[in-house]
Order: sequence, then structure tokens, then C-alpha cells
Amino acid sequence: MQKVQEYFGSRVFDDRVMKASLPAGVYKSLHRTIERGTRLDPGVADAVASAMKDWAVSKGATHYTHWFQPLTGVTAEKHDSFISPSPDGGVIMEFSGKELIKGEPDASSFPSGGLRATFEARGYTAWDPTSYAFIKGKTLCIPTAFCSYGGEALDKKTPLLRSMEALNRQALRILKLFGNKDVRCVRTCVGPEQEYFLITREMYDKRPDLRFTGRTLFGKKPPKGQEMDDHYFGVIKPRVAAYMEELNDELWRLGILAKTEHNEVAPAQHELAPIYSTTNIATDHNQLTMEIMQKVAAKHGLVCLLHEKPFDGVNGSGKHNNWSISTDAGVNLLSPGETPYENAQFLLFLCAVIKAVDDYQDLLRITVATAGNDHRLGANEAPPAVVSIFLGDELNAVLEAIETGEPYMGAEKTQMKLGVDVLPKFNRDTTDRNRTSPFAFTGNKFEFRMLGSANSIACCNIMLNSAVAESLKIYADRLEGAEDFETALHEMIRKTIKDHKNIIFNGNGYDDAWIKEATEKRGLLNYRTTADCMPHLLDEKNVTMLTAHGVYSRAELESRCEIMLENYVKTVTIEANTMVSMARRQIAPAVESYTMKLMEGIAQKKALDMGLDSGYETGLVKELSTLTGEIARRADLLEEAVSALSGTVEEQSCAVRDAILGRMEELRKVCDRAETITAKEFWPYPSYGDILFSV
Ligand code: ADP
Ligand code: MG
Repeated sequence: MQKVQEYFGSRVFDDRVMKASLPAGVYKSLHRTIERGTRLDPGVADAVASAMKDWAVSKGATHYTHWFQPLTGVTAEKHDSFISPSPDGGVIMEFSGKELIKGEPDASSFPSGGLRATFEARGYTAWDPTSYAFIKGKTLCIPTAFCSYGGEALDKKTPLLRSMEALNRQALRILKLFGNKDVRCVRTCVGPEQEYFLITREMYDKRPDLRFTGRTLFGKKPPKGQEMDDHYFGVIKPRVAAYMEELNDELWRLGILAKTEHNEVAPAQHELAPIYSTTNIATDHNQLTMEIMQKVAAKHGLVCLLHEKPFDGVNGSGKHNNWSISTDAGVNLLSPGETPYENAQFLLFLCAVIKAVDDYQDLLRITVATAGNDHRLGANEAPPAVVSIFLGDELNAVLEAIETGEPYMGAEKTQMKLGVDVLPKFNRDTTDRNRTSPFAFTGNKFEFRMLGSANSIACCNIMLNSAVAESLKIYADRLEGAEDFETALHEMIRKTIKDHKNIIFNGNGYDDAWIKEATEKRGLLNYRTTADCMPHLLDEKNVTMLTAHGVYSRAELESRCEIMLENYVKTVTIEANTMVSMARRQIAPAVESYTMKLMEGIAQKKALDMGLDSGYETGLVKELSTLTGEIARRADLLEEAVSALSGTVEEQSCAVRDAILGRMEELRKVCDRAETITAKEFWPYPSYGDILFSV
């Protein structure tokens, strides 16, 4: 068997391959672009394209594609083959620098939220040299950005790269003030932990709701769920282990650092975490990971569910975005330092994050808003829709001491001097892990836990990078002009703590009392649904900040708001239609058949004239008949609500929230009740128990 070290990254045109296959000058130029994000010298494109093609062809590739991430949230590709006719009637394999740098997919059917009128349907894709090209099947995939002809970003990668640049710009200003002269670039890193469910294909095929919407719209809770907590970190079943093994193998070949995997809380739920990498690459890799998870599952007769809430009453799936800031020398700026001076720098970056999260709570909430994730946030399994920060006791004590000017008593209870130039030295605290916080400091990184399992991680990192860039800009503007740097620094840290301590909460985020305190006492935002939060993307403060840093134009923001709301409305509409159809065409008829069967039994008992008791059947028949009537009535009501949808997309999203979701729940209630009293052989679908314990 081949060793992992031998095949890891074998399908990636990575630094090793570049070094070996590119002329020295070309390699150096490209490497500089990748390492420091400098502009690519267009002169090198032909040489890179040629080396890329030769490498890909040697690995059996016949096609290439510009691989991009349109606003649908999934990835897109259009394949072209390398072949080009040769004069002797054969073909040669060709790929030019021009084809590498720019592509023109027919993009008219990707959502643009009004950014691109359909008559000018073309968009173009532009090579992102900072993310390595890779081979999938027989296709060379070239990570690209996707823009309209007017230059507006139609994808998630472009704003992500812009936000990384914005943060880089501002962080470098700060580092210079601290005397770090050698740092050439600062970037953010992310390690996303990905949750998912695995069920058998057989079960999946029998559920129209899973097939059409990715989640079950009906189903009573199984007698055994996650009460016993016996699945969490439990032994991995052989079939799942085989799946994970092949998944790892595939991911490793693509240079994806899949590291840990374990069972999650719910039955059939699992998690995969990679080793962290630069945000841009982590984002590409997470998209690829989700795609490959589904592909490998199919090979094993399984289906990988990435929906945030596939089963009601069972834990949903999230994604944890572990995020840090580091320099090109590998120094993590969110790691407490060795000296008080390093700690001062750390505290400033920490404050920048605290301020950013407080000032832009709404933006963070918006980045995780989808119809699917709305089912999780605030339920007793995922952090609430209220954004707050967990710091841990020790760090909290440090901040309190700075705010009040009291001496800080370190963990080992030695008093520390808190002077102007002596910000405290403290130990890093990695032990305290508050799992209920939406945004937790975990020693040297922040973990944003509100993401749904299907979300692209691009969105939250765009906002996080931008908001932190804004804090750093404000700090740099002030500090660069300060007469006495250290006094100004200390004052600024103190002021940030004072102004933003409301966002810090170290208690239990699942507690109802917290939501009350957060909203009533602290004035934190609580946007419960996508319809509630999305329009705030266009609040003036958000537009001002995001345009000032060159991350989004106003038009781009308007388009995104429109697309996200449209997506919300469409998703729920499809679910509602699926429910109506299932209820009318399968559930009601099944209940009816069972009722008939019971009635036949009653009639036969009567015919025997033996005075047999048929109270049981009669009671059931009565309840089932009532339920069938209710099912029909509630299906009609739901259908009416869907037909009544009209107006702007914002109006429709409110109608979804206020009228449709409630009626879906109403319809579900009677159907689930019917399931509990209908004989299993009559029920048209596998039950939750069948599905969750199918693998
Ligand atoms: P948990 O206890 O939440 O599982 P881990 O320490 O296992 O935490 O890390 C979870 C994720 O955080 C992994 O994907 C890991 O690579 C990532 N991670 C670790 N350090 C950093 C860092 N400095 N920046 C970004 N991500 C990181
Ligand atoms: Mg985690």
C-alpha cells in the first residue's frame, strides 16, 4: 500500500511541482505572488500554463476548468478539453496563459441579484494564483474569481480576497508601530470543523423530502435518540470507518489536511476537521471537502447530508470557523506573548476583534443566515442568534483590571504591575472551553460557532476580516499621530474594553435568562430569522465600512441582500410544496387505507355476531378520520399561503416567516401524530429510527 507521505497532494499543482517544473525566474515571480499577494506578472502566465498542462496531462487529465464559487453557495465549473487539432489529423494538448488567466463561462443562469442584466449574460473568471490548481477526475481545476463585465464580483472568492487585503493593510500599520519591521504580510487562517450525517442510500431514496429539500419535513422522534449520549466520540462503525478512510484518501490526494474525525452527538452524525490554512485556501478546501464527502458517500451506498437540520428533535449540523491572524513569519497575533510588550500587541489585536464583533454583530449574524440554519440558531444545540464573545476567566480578569486600573492578580496570584508601559503578562488559558458561546476565544484563535454545516465559510470570514480591519484602521489612525505611543495605546485598550464589554459573556449561552439579559439589559441584537437580519446588510454603517475598505461596492451588497432573501424564499417554498404533495398524495392516502383496514376488521367482528369488542379499532378509526380531515385542511391552508406570496423579495421573506413556516409546522404536527398511530406497514416512509440507525 502506498504511504500517505507519498501520495499526499499528488493531484495538486503545488509548490513542489512548481519548483520542479517552472523556469527559475517564473517560479520566483509566481512564488512571490502566492506568498505576499503581490500582483502577478502577466508575462509568466504562458510558462505556468504550459507547465500546468504538462503536469495535468501526465496525470491523465484531458480537460481543464475554471473552478469558481458563484453566489449559489456551491462551486461551479465548465469543462474545456486541452485538445487542439494538429495538421497531421491528430490532436495536440494545448493550454495557453490567456486561457489560464481568464475564462468566459456562459453565466446567465447564476444569480447576480440584478448586477448583470440577462442581455449581457457573460461574466468572466480570473485565475487566483494564491490557491493551487488541482485535478479532479480527469479535469484540471483552476481556482478562479468570477466577475461581471462591469467588474462587480459575482462570487464569494473576490470579496474574500479583498477582505484579506484590507486586514493585511491595516494590520501592517499596527505592526509597524510596534516596531515589527520585517513583517511583509499578515493574513488570517481558518480551520473549519465540519459536521454531517451519513445515512443509507436506500432510506434516502424513499424520502421525497430528503431528496427535494435535504431535510425531513415529517417524522416522529425515534424511541431512542441521542438521550444516552452514547454516539458522541463512540466507536465508529465499520461501514462508516470505510467511508472515512476513502474520504481521507481522496482529500489527502488533493492536499487537504483532513486531520480528525469522530462521531458527533446525534446518531449517524459525524465530524471532520482539517488542519488550518490561509483563509482563502481553507475556503476552497472546505467547498471541495463538502463535494467529495457527498461523492465518496455515493460510492459506499450512502448519502452524506450537509443540511443544518435534517431531523427535527435531533441535533443539527454546524460548522466551527476557527480563525486567527498571523504574519508571514508564522507569528500568531492572537497568541499571548512572552513579554509584556508582546502582550500589549496581543491585547490590541484582541481588542480589535472585540470591537469588531460588537460593532458588526449584525454582519456576523447575516453571514450565517439561511432557511436551514434558522432551525438551529437558538435551539438548544447551537449558539443563539445573539452574538457574544467568550474570553475565559483569566483573560476576562486581565481586561477588567485594565479597565478599572486595579492591579491584576495573575493565575498564580502574584501581583502584576499595571503601568503605562507594563501591560500584564499572563498565561494562555486553553482549558476553559465554553461550547455555548457563538464566538469563543480558545487560547490563540477565535472560534465562530454559528455557521450551519452547509454554509460557505467565505461569508463569515469576509465580514470578520473587514470588521477587524476597520478596528485596526481606527487604532492606527489614532496611534500614528500620538505624541506618546504607550500612553495612547493603553488608553485605547482601556477605552475599547469600556465601550465594548457588553459583548463579552462568559456564561451559558443556551440559557433563556441570557437572551433576556442580552437583549433587554445589554442591548445586543437578536435577529431570529433570515428575514429579520438580511435587510440590515444595507444599513448605512455597514455599507460605509465595507465600501471604505474596498471589500464590496454598494451595488454588490444590494445584489447579495437580494440573492440571500430570494434563496430563503425559494428554499421554504420548495419545502412547503413538497410537504403539500407528500401529505396529499402519500400520507393522507396511507392513513385512509389503514382506516379502511380497521373498519373492515370492525365489520368482520360484527358479522360474526359473537359480541367481540372492537373498541380499540373504533377509537383509532375515529382519531384517524379526524386526522385525515385535518391533514387535508392544513395542506390546503399551506398551499394557499404559498400561492399568496407576492410583492418584493423582502415582503415575500416576511410572509415566509409569518405565514408559511407556521403552517408547515401545523401540517407536520397532524401528520406526525398520524404516524404514531398508523401501522408501520401502511406508512409510506421509513421512520426516523429506520433512517438514523440505518448505517
Ligand atoms: P476543538 O477542541 O474545537 O476540536 P481543536 O484544537 O481540535 O479544537 O481545533 C479545531 C480546529 O481549529 C482545527 O481545524 C484546527 O486546525 C484549527 N486551529 C488550530 N489552531 C488554529 C489557528 N491558530 N488558527 C486557525 N485555526 C486553528
Ligand atoms: Mg470546535
